[in-house]
Amino acid sequence: MFTKIFRPLLTFCYLFNTFAAVFTVSSNTLAQTTGAKCPLPALSRFSRHTVSSGETLESIAQVYNLTPKTILTMNPGLQSPIKAGNQILIPPYNGIIVEVPPSMTWRDIAKQYKIRADVLFEINGCQKNPRLVFVPQSKRPDITRTQPPSPNSTPSRFAGYPLASTGKVVLSYGWQTNTKTGEVFFHSGIDLLAPLGTSVLAIGEGTVAFAGEQGTYGNLVIINHGQGIQTRYAQLETIKVAVGQQVQQGEILGTVGATGKPTSPQPHLHFEVRTSSDLGWVAKNPQDYLK
Ligand SMILES: [Zn+2]
Repeated sequence: MFTKIFRPLLTFCYLFNTFAAVFTVSSNTLAQTTGAKCPLPALSRFSRHTVSSGETLESIAQVYNLTPKTILTMNPGLQSPIKAGNQILIPPYNGIIVEVPPSMTWRDIAKQYKIRADVLFEINGCQKNPRLVFVPQSKRPDITRTQPPSPNSTPSRFAGYPLASTGKVVLSYGWQTNTKTGEVFFHSGIDLLAPLGTSVLAIGEGTVAFAGEQGTYGNLVIINHGQGIQTRYAQLETIKVAVGQQVQQGEILGTVGATGKPTSPQPHLHFEVRTSSDLGWVAKNPQDYLK
């Protein structure tokens, strides 16, 4: 009984150290902004938990004083029911990770989530312009509005695919570790291997909402499909559509390139699926939407 209770905690401590060792925060950011009062950013305080046999999502949530929903949100690839040996990312508190859109600041995020700005600032390590923030939330059940669909409800899948033939996924959606620097980062889409110049196709009909150069995305095409679903095609070499244009499933949007800051070294298409929320477009796991 005793060991049963404590094994997860021991695992937690060990893995926490491992995780802390591989997680790096830009030392510049820390030097500039972390005062004596500022804790480490919540995003750098995630730990990993390896599921032991007999453990359930609920029992693990209880060990860490989290809701099962928080754990599911932080681990979008987790299949329910969980199995022994599964690796689960454990956040320091209940909450969600929010990407700060270019048009917003973390102060706007604080306002939207009705959280005190100074609390949000400190929890995120007093960074001035974080791209991703951890928004802590209480155990109130109403936090479900930004949660991913429950494992029972499958998101509507598209009939199309962004390339003419299936591309190998070289980088999955979700938390990833840069093998060179050890830095942990959130990948908002999937990288599909394809030779430079390969045609990139609309996965469903919709309207072009953006077509142009956009920072780390490089040349980017965004299609709004209606019903709160959007797809993004990034790192393109060329763009063949214009804003406002109606496109059909399979229509050529552009070609595979290496513009912007690609997340994988080999030529690939960075593909995203986003759904509409109070905060704007939230990145979902594209593999849940592809056939
Ligand atoms: Zn990518």
